[in-house]
Amino acid sequence: MESLHKSFISGCHILHYHRILDAYGHLSVRHPTRNDVFLMCRSMAPATVSSRLDIIEYYIEDASPVDPGSPLGYVERFIHSEIYKRYSDVQSIIHSHSPDVVPYSISGVPLQPCVHLAGFLGKKVPNFDILDFYETGDVRDLLIRNRQLGKQLASYFSSNSGGLTEAVVLMRGHGFTVVGGSIEECVFRAIYTSENARIQSSALALSTAHPLATDIKYIHETEIPASTAMTQWSYMRPWKLWVQEVEATSLYTNLA
Ligand SMILES: [Zn+2]
Repeated sequence: MESLHKSFISGCHILHYHRILDAYGHLSVRHPTRNDVFLMCRSMAPATVSSRLDIIEYYIEDASPVDPGSPLGYVERFIHSEIYKRYSDVQSIIHSHSPDVVPYSISGVPLQPCVHLAGFLGKKVPNFDILDFYETGDVRDLLIRNRQLGKQLASYFSSNSGGLTEAVVLMRGHGFTVVGGSIEECVFRAIYTSENARIQSSALALSTAHPLATDIKYIHETEIPASTAMTQWSYMRPWKLWVQEVEATSLYTNLA
C-alpha cells in the first residue's frame, strides 16, 4: 500500500503540474487487494495532497466511505464508483475540467486522435450530455451527484453495452473522464488527451488561415491499435520524468 499511496500522491501532483487538475477534478485508484473498494483524496486541491491521511477509501457499491468518520470527500465520486463497478479491468480514473478539452464538448467538433500518443481507443471521443439524464429533483449543475448519473456516464465507455471500448469520455460543458489500467497509464492518458486537444485546436485554426491548408489528417483508424499499444509499453518513461518534476517543485509534498 505504501508504494500505491506514493504513486497516488505523485499522480495528483503531476496532474496539477500539467494543468489537468486545478482546485477541481480528481484522481482515484482501485484498492490493490480489495476489489470492492477504491481510493480518492478528501475534498481538497489535489496539488496539496501530501500524506495517506488525505486519502479516503470508498465502497464501489455506493461510493460511501469505508470509515464513516472519514473527512468530507468529493461530490462527484459517483463518476469513479460506477465506472469501477461496470469495468473490472479499470484500475484508475481521472476526472478533469481541462479548458483545452472542454471546447470539444460544446462545439460539435469531435475530439479525434491527432498524434500517436493520444491513447484514444476509438476514432472519436464520445460526448456525454448530462441534460439527457437528469431525473426529477436532480440539481442541474452538471455535476455527477448520484449513482444514476454515474451509471449513465459509465455506459459511455462502452459502445456495445459490453466491455470497455473507450479510454476517454467528454462531458458537455464540464470536462472529461479518462480510465486506465494503472495510475501511471491513466495520468499519461489524461495529459495526452489535453495535449491532443491543443494540437487539434491549433491544426483547426491553421486549416482556416492559409490557402494551402488541406483537410486535417487524423491518426488513421488502422494506426490506432498499434499506437495505443505503444503508449502502453512506454508510459513509464514520461512518468519517471514527471515524478522528478514534481519532486523538484517546492509546492508539492509527498510523505507516503
Ligand atoms: Zn467535475
